[in-house]
Formats: sequence, structure tokens, C-alpha cells
Amino acid sequence: MQDLIVVGGGLAGSEAAWQAAERGMRVFLYEMRPEVSTGAHTGEHLAELVCSNSLGSNLPDRASGVLKEELRKMGSIVLRCAEETAVPAGGALAVDRQAFAHQVTEKITCHPNIHVIRQEITIIPDKSAIIASGPLTSLALSTAIAELTGSQHLYFYDAIAPIVDYESINMAIAYRASRYDRGEKDDGDYINCPMTRQEYETFVDALLEAERIELREFERDLESGVNAGAHHFFEGCLPVEIIARRGREALAFGPMRPVGLIDPRTGRRPYAVVQLRQDNLAGSLYNLVGFQTNLKFAEQRRVLRMIPGLEKAEFLRYGQMHRNTFIFSPSNLRPTLQFRIRDDLFFAGQITGVEGYVGNIATGLLAGWNAARLAQRKPALELPGTTMLGALCQYISSASEADFQPMKANFGILPALDNPNLHGKRQRAAAHASRAAADLDSFLKKVVEDS
Ligand SMILES: Cc1cc2nc3c(=O)[nH]c(=O)nc-3n(C[C@H](O)[C@H](O)[C@H](O)COP(=O)(O)OP(=O)(O)OC[C@H]3O[C@@H](n4cnc5c(N)ncnc54)[C@H](O)[C@@H]3O)c2cc1C
Repeated sequence: MQDLIVVGGGLAGSEAAWQAAERGMRVFLYEMRPEVSTGAHTGEHLAELVCSNSLGSNLPDRASGVLKEELRKMGSIVLRCAEETAVPAGGALAVDRQAFAHQVTEKITCHPNIHVIRQEITIIPDKSAIIASGPLTSLALSTAIAELTGSQHLYFYDAIAPIVDYESINMAIAYRASRYDRGEKDDGDYINCPMTRQEYETFVDALLEAERIELREFERDLESGVNAGAHHFFEGCLPVEIIARRGREALAFGPMRPVGLIDPRTGRRPYAVVQLRQDNLAGSLYNLVGFQTNLKFAEQRRVLRMIPGLEKAEFLRYGQMHRNTFIFSPSNLRPTLQFRIRDDLFFAGQITGVEGYVGNIATGLLAGWNAARLAQRKPALELPGTTMLGALCQYISSASEADFQPMKANFGILPALDNPNLHGKRQRAAAHASRAAADLDSFLKKVVEDS
């Protein structure tokens, strides 16, 4: 039995460890928590979700849905745990974060081929290894990685959204609904806090005036929209106060858009809406969807309580901003996720520049599988570029230096369709999805035949 070291027991590391162990490797999974903290994780479970409890769309013709289907076909354990701990979230897959992390931890620790070791790794292992230490990689390991890659790390910043106690939401004002009634629950999967135009204007003023946690250099870059030097920010995670600075209507067209959310009390669409999504199976916690923020905690309490329905909200977690670390993959990784100049060293998860929970799980799956193939003296797999995971791996390993940005699953990274006559976004998405499924099926069939 050959040994494999996996650094980091997050989404990617847990999946990688499982895949390699299932294929006969003896895996040593190193997780530094609870001894050393990341600043964003709060517990000691593996696969802890640090922000949203949503793993994105589950619909088969959405990019994230396509990636999930690929993970199902390739036997992802972490996705299975997510599906077993799902909470209602319309067309999305959202989980009870505690139950999810607990389930992954149990699966991994009970696997006979996996040994979980609670220890920080500070150097790059010199034997077969997968680095999946995530966006909050410890400083010592970050330094070692920077020395290995020979290039400066890139940093950007993510923000997390607050969570409130359900009991503290005023349901005489807030109402349940899913956008365009597309939810699972009859009365709607989301709690919606409606705003009139006047309430919206007052709220935006308060947001713009509220005090933020120390204004640092990177925040100035965000406001100016300039990605100066190493200070990048992922557009999908902008704090609400930064969005508000981009224009008075930016929030009403962004996270507070009211389309498809008729208020049953007025029979009309509100001017703006703040949506809350269930965060645990018990339904006692709700997060403010898209409300990542870096306001001071007291200011969050004051300003967010101006939202109708949240005037007495109890905040069980405040929003925060965090460092996000990733390597410059185009010059360091192959599409197999191997380090370019060392076959037995893999990177997986957010540290590769693949963004988003499901993408992180997916790269963990491929890295674990490939590490096991290498141990069996088989060539590492490169997935077809027409599949979502294949396209993500192609992107991070071959993007141009100037354009390299963390990338989420999306149809834009897939090669053009053969049929140019497809019109409409949905039609093209469906065609991409069925081509990805067919190509993955034949690829997997060939892998089985060859082995
Ligand atoms: C604050 C924040 C919010 C985010 N919010 C979202 C979101 O809402 N939706 C979304 O799709 N994505 C989000 N992301 C991006 C990303 O999808 C998640 O961070 C995801 O958890 C990354 O998966 P991972 O496996 O790469 O890393 P992680 O899940 O972070 O796992 C890495 C693990 O490695 C451990 N570790 C670190 N250094 C060492 C070391 N030296 N030795 C041993 N162990 C170590 C850590 O403790 C951690 O458990 C967010 C990222 C951040 C930082």
C-alpha cells in the first residue's frame, strides 16, 4: 500500500483523501484545526463551510448543476454528504452546515485507509502529496509554497454574510416566498424583507455612512475598481457597502433585486428585498443572502436592523472580510492538477484558483484520483475540456498571465458549441450540459476499459 499526504481537511482535502483511499492508498490527512485557527473557521470538523451554506444551483442546465452532475458520476463523497444534509433552497443545493461537516468528518475518520492527524504542516512534503490548504493557508505553509512556486502569491479578499436567529425575525413584515414560486416548500424557501423606495434610500444612506473595519490598501483598490498589484477581489463576493458605493441603484439591481417576489400583503412587488436563506436543518438560523460586509459589528447591528422585519434581529454571526490565497496556477500546474516540475505533488481546492465550494470539491476529487493512478503507475487523467471540471482545470493551467482570476464553474469557459443555430441562453446552456454529460460518460467508460 502506497502512502499519500493530504494537507488540509477542507472540502478539497476531504474529497481527495477519500478518492485516494478508496483506490487503495494509505492516506495521512493533516488538518491544523483546532490547534491552529484560520480566523474564519469556528469548529474542528472537516469540510466546514466558512460562509454561505449554499453549494449553488442544482438545476441541470446551470453551470454549477452541470458540475454537480459530473461529481455524482465520479462518485464524490462530499457531494453525497451535502445531499444527505440538504435544507430547502429553491433550485439550489444548500446544507445544514453543522450536519454536513459532521457527516464528512465521520465518513473520513471512519475510512480504514485514512489517518487524520491534527497538525499544521509548515513545509512542502517531499513524498507523494496533495496541497489542499485552502484560501486561508497558514502563514508558514504559504511561505513554503511561495518559495516552491518561485513567484509571489496573489491575494484577494472575500467577505462573509451575517446570520440571524429566526425567532428574532418579525414575520408580521417579512414573508416567505421563492423567486417566481420556484421553491420546494409550498410557502416559499426564503424569508423576504420588503422595502419601499423611501426605506431603500434611507438604508443606502446609512450603509454608505457606516463605519467599516480599518480601511486598508486593498479596500481602496476595491472602491476605485482598480486591481492594483496583488490586491484582487472576487466580484461575486463584494461587500454590500462596496456595491452601494458603485451607484444608488446598484443594490436594487444586485442582491436586493425584487423580481419574482410579490409581497402577499400588498399584492405588489416591493422596491427592493433582502432575502434570508435557511442555514440549518432545524430552521433556527437564517443568513442574509448576498449581504457580505466588512462594517464594524456594532454598525452591522445598527444598519441591518433598519431592514423591515429585522428591527429586532439577533445576530448570531457578523459579516467579516478575509484574506484569500491562491497560487499562480498557469505557470505552476498541469490540467491534471500536478505541479509542473514534480509529478507526485498535486494542488487542489481554492488554492489552485478554482473558486466556489463545488469547484473545490471537484478539484479534490481529480487530485485524489490522479494521485492514486500515479501510485498504480497509470497516467494521470486529463478530463475533456468540454466537461465543466475539465474546462476549469484547463483554465487554471493555461490562462494568460494578465487575465488570471479565480474562476467559478460557468459556461463561458467551455469550448464553443458545434451547432451555431442555437439561440437563447437556456437553449445553449442545455446543449452545453448534454455535451458535457455525453463526453464525460464516454471518457469514464474508456478509463474503465483501459484499467
Ligand atoms: C471567508 C471566505 C468566505 C467564502 N465564502 C464562500 C461562499 O460563500 N461560497 C463559495 O462557494 N465559496 C466561498 N469561499 C471560497 C471557497 O469555496 C471556500 O473557502 C472553500 O472552503 C475552499 O475549499 P478548500 O478545500 O480549498 O479550503 P478549506 O475548505 O478552507 O480547507 C482548507 C483546510 O486546510 C487547513 N489548513 C490550512 N493551512 C494548513 C496547514 N499549514 N496545515 C494543515 N492544515 C491547514 C484549514 O484549517 C482548512 O480546514 C469563501 C472563502 C473565504 C475565505
